[in-house]
Amino acid sequence: MSNVYYTNLRSRPGRSLPKKMELLVKAAGIGDLPCKDKFTAIKIHFGELGNMAFLRHNYAARMAELLKQMGARPFLTDTNTLYSGSRSNAVDHLYTAFLNGYNAISVPAAPVIIADGLKGTDEVVVPLPEGEYCKEARIASAIAQADVLVSMTHFKGHEQAGFGGALKNVGMGGASVGGKLHMHSDSQPVIERENCIGCNVCVVNCRHKAVALDAEKKAVIDYEICVGCGQCIAVCQYDAARPGKFSSTQELTAKIAEYALAVLKDKPHFHVAFIMDVSPHCDCWSMNDVPIVPDIGILASFDPLALDQACFDMVRNAPAMADSMANPQGKETLEGEDKFTSVHPRTDGAFGLAHAEKMQLGSRTYTLIEV
Ligand code: SF4
Ligand code: SF4
Repeated sequence: MSNVYYTNLRSRPGRSLPKKMELLVKAAGIGDLPCKDKFTAIKIHFGELGNMAFLRHNYAARMAELLKQMGARPFLTDTNTLYSGSRSNAVDHLYTAFLNGYNAISVPAAPVIIADGLKGTDEVVVPLPEGEYCKEARIASAIAQADVLVSMTHFKGHEQAGFGGALKNVGMGGASVGGKLHMHSDSQPVIERENCIGCNVCVVNCRHKAVALDAEKKAVIDYEICVGCGQCIAVCQYDAARPGKFSSTQELTAKIAEYALAVLKDKPHFHVAFIMDVSPHCDCWSMNDVPIVPDIGILASFDPLALDQACFDMVRNAPAMADSMANPQGKETLEGEDKFTSVHPRTDGAFGLAHAEKMQLGSRTYTLIEV
């Protein structure tokens, strides 16, 4: 059983939310992290341009200052995306990060480093003999080479994994572009022809030129070229581009857990998660829909699996927000139900949690300690 520390979002003068986060992580024992004189990666998601749900830089600034006081050499980091967008190479990614507030003015204690380099190819291949799905993992070099890792995670929905928590932030977010291909490659999408209106959006957004419109103006995927990145699923507004077999989304979450293990297994690590602005989709989207539950709080733990499980449980037990994707009619509160599966019916985020436990990444049972 692991300890997970939690603070709610009530605030008063002298207790701003960044201050509450600082008190929380201190209570959770961040002071025990052996980071003196160590390169300490703060793994974060800088947010796609247009998205407004990603984590505010103020929390990262407070964390960077704290780590600096502990003698660490912190840096903020993320990896390039597999799909086209504002973060698919280091130049665009840094520009996006700076515009979203992750820059030397707002976060002076930690420079931004894109962990897998200019085009997402800087990687370290980590052997993973204990993996069931991955016998090796392609980890972004700056994350693999960091001495210590602190993850800061915006907990939210994800269209293929069900939800995005600490394990996804570290596993998928710690991989090079090749590693991301590796995780996605067994979840190639399918096209539901009756839903496809031939809008061409998936065609222009497929970075690999794997999808085209046929003579009937229906999208067709060339599976010899498709790498299963999921971009067409993300951009299709007509539920025509969909994940392939359901088991593939389970496999994706299992691979994410194994990649998280590859990142963390030889490294001291600590994790913080923010259950706020719980958008149904991940921060890789250039928009964010109404949160599916009310803001809940900030959690911290040395155990990323216990942290994810606690966040998952809290969202499950919260009422669904009226007029959100989870409760569009304002009638179904879904308390006690997996809202991520309700908004993304083909996903099974709990499968990834179970697989992470099997991989001994941590514990699914935890003691919640309120700070
Ligand atoms: S984005 Fe969707 S609806 Fe548009 S062409 Fe592609 S599959 Fe069809
Ligand atoms: S067709 Fe394949 S490669 Fe192209 S966007 Fe879709 S999943 Fe990615």
